[in-house]
Amino acid sequence: MEKEIGGKVYGISSAVQFEIQKKDKTELVKMKISNSPVNLLDASVLHHEKSELEENLVTYISDGAVENILPPENSMEVIEEAFRSIDNYYSSDTKKTNPGLNCYYCNRPSRCGQFPELSNKKTKNTDRGILVSKTQLLNLNLCERKAAWKAQYGIPPSVKETSEQLVFGIKFHEYTQQVIAEVSEPFSDLGIEKMKKITENEEEELNKRLVASFRLLIEEVSTYKNINLSKSEFELGFTTLVSGLVSNSKKEIYDGNVAVTYMGKADFVGRLDGDVPLVVELKTGKERDEHKLEADLYAIGAKTILKEEKIIVLHIYLDTNSAKVVERVYETKDFAKLNEFFISKALVIGSWDPEDSLSPPYTVGSWCEYCEFKTSCIEYRNE
Ligand code: SF4
Repeated sequence: MEKEIGGKVYGISSAVQFEIQKKDKTELVKMKISNSPVNLLDASVLHHEKSELEENLVTYISDGAVENILPPENSMEVIEEAFRSIDNYYSSDTKKTNPGLNCYYCNRPSRCGQFPELSNKKTKNTDRGILVSKTQLLNLNLCERKAAWKAQYGIPPSVKETSEQLVFGIKFHEYTQQVIAEVSEPFSDLGIEKMKKITENEEEELNKRLVASFRLLIEEVSTYKNINLSKSEFELGFTTLVSGLVSNSKKEIYDGNVAVTYMGKADFVGRLDGDVPLVVELKTGKERDEHKLEADLYAIGAKTILKEEKIIVLHIYLDTNSAKVVERVYETKDFAKLNEFFISKALVIGSWDPEDSLSPPYTVGSWCEYCEFKTSCIEYRNE
């Protein structure tokens, strides 16, 4: 669809993955990996673009369901709003970045400047780009295939992780962020009062646990003077440009460049003593060796964007009855070695054949039991 605004012509389209010709109609099929419904703008554009002889369908490959894509009631308003947003964007500073969850859906995070290349190399449009989240980075240490299937190939998980501990962790993070955002001195009695208030509708046991964990957080944080946490859920990351395998539109493989962007969402970022950049990660589960890797990622991410010589990363482990802080201080001498490590991992990632999801090697181990691909990974099923 096209629209002219202020002398500029903008276009919006929605892609479908299959076009199936039937006797009396054509089916346009959108394929989705996640179970979330087709977004409103896609559904609106498809509805307004379709002819009488066409039908819009969506297939969810995780469970094989096929559904009609129904037009939203206010589809024309949705489209108009989208055109306004595009016009606002092009009328403003297009170089300004807005890091967040959206970064995980962006196909060129290595090029926007928010996640700079470690040696300031420039990535080109023809370079292959791969985004590796901190979770996939941790998985890489256990089983390459597990990390690759998520980061490179978009294989849908066959098992969903849910547990009481996971639910508690998510809620604790959300409520703590709210307290820190809305209370002037969150690590004081004011913070505890706020935590009690916003969790009062939770079940009694969960409410007690949330408040108890927040008290422990205050005790741990109080050992640091002048702590200022200015942002929550902040994306930190960086890019490494290495040699690797690239494919073209004919799916031919050739040697080229691969831009691997490592990215992790830090719970909080701020400053210590008004000066040193600080990253804080809250953990409601057990302390694990891999958390050092996460801290390394945050430290390099903070350094590449802030260009500071010293970065502090705190992991704060909280249970109902106990708490522990692990502090890691990164200085200039540490970064060269860490950069080498992340480049070596990027070379491994860049060697995955982009057209062959079975090319990354697998490692079977105790972690398979908790792997989201355990029912689709044949090696595990054959064990
Ligand atoms: S089931 Fe095991 S071997 Fe297979 S991808 Fe998962 S972790 Fe790797």
